[in-house]
Amino acid sequence: MSTDLPTIELNSGALIPQLGLGVWQADDADTERAVRYAIGTAGYRHVDTAAAYGNEAAVGKALAASGVDRSEVFVTTKLWNADHGRDRALAAIDASLDRLGLDRVDLYLIHWPLQNHDRMIDTWRALIDIRDAGKATTIGVSNFEPHHLTAIIDATGVVPAVNQVELHPRHAQRELRAFCAGHGIAVEAWSPLGGSGSGWGSKSTPNTLLTDPTLTTIADKHGTSTARVMIRWHLQNGIIAIPKSVHEERIAQNIDVLDFELDGDDLATIDRLDVGERVGAHPDELNLGAPKD
Ligand code: NDP
Repeated sequence: MSTDLPTIELNSGALIPQLGLGVWQADDADTERAVRYAIGTAGYRHVDTAAAYGNEAAVGKALAASGVDRSEVFVTTKLWNADHGRDRALAAIDASLDRLGLDRVDLYLIHWPLQNHDRMIDTWRALIDIRDAGKATTIGVSNFEPHHLTAIIDATGVVPAVNQVELHPRHAQRELRAFCAGHGIAVEAWSPLGGSGSGWGSKSTPNTLLTDPTLTTIADKHGTSTARVMIRWHLQNGIIAIPKSVHEERIAQNIDVLDFELDGDDLATIDRLDVGERVGAHPDELNLGAPKD
């Protein structure tokens, strides 16, 4: 099955499918199976990994085994915190490409801004060189607040194409979305379903969005699931979403979102769930794994 998912044109001119598969916290075996099924069978054309997830090699194997041409799949990976700084960043992309078995990624992101802003800017300059060398078609950032974005844009004149941030109905990031819209930066949601309730940087609280009564009422109205309602909410708001699952039934369910539409009442009701509640760390507070020098 191949789906006709909507795409967003990035400031690089590349098209990103608005829905992709996330693979954080998936081990190699699960990652390989999930990505192969998602791309080869379920119709996904976008996968989101990171050096820090430890599963880039499994993603690469699954892409090769999927039977789908490389040019049809949008692959994102991320530069880990320990690799901030020019030389480390230039080496990090080569290591990621090697593990993925690819000669370029579609999107390369700085995973977190960290607290050393001079080094963050050096890292962004390295990503510009990585793009110019053809190793990443498009470059962007993750977990950047407006002040981080302003710092790298002012220093280099290069606007990131994407900002991947925590975003779901309880943390809708309206101000950040408005800032990004004003700069032509596409917003991509991590933990788009409210997360898995575990993992570093997470507050280790179980996911209660998937069973939220308001979302359940809307899901019942459309004869669907809360996961699909949330994914529709992202798509209809122009947000890129990368829900993670290692279960085939859920992977298929999460992409089967083109046969219904949330109406204005549904969208407004979901918007009212926004209480600014994060499941992960605030970017200004996270310095995990930062280089010592
Ligand atoms: P999600 O919001 O995607 O939720 C994932 C959880 O929901 C898993 O426990 C999964 O379980 C479950 N799930 C998925 N689909 C369904 C469904 N249809 N019904 C019921 N449960 C479901 O959280 P993530 O935190 O994983 O975020 C998604 C992706 O975002 C990550 O995988 C990663 O690629 C990226 N990310 C990026 C970050 C960054 O700093 N840039 C930080 C965090 C995530 P199961 O797998 O068992 O099916």
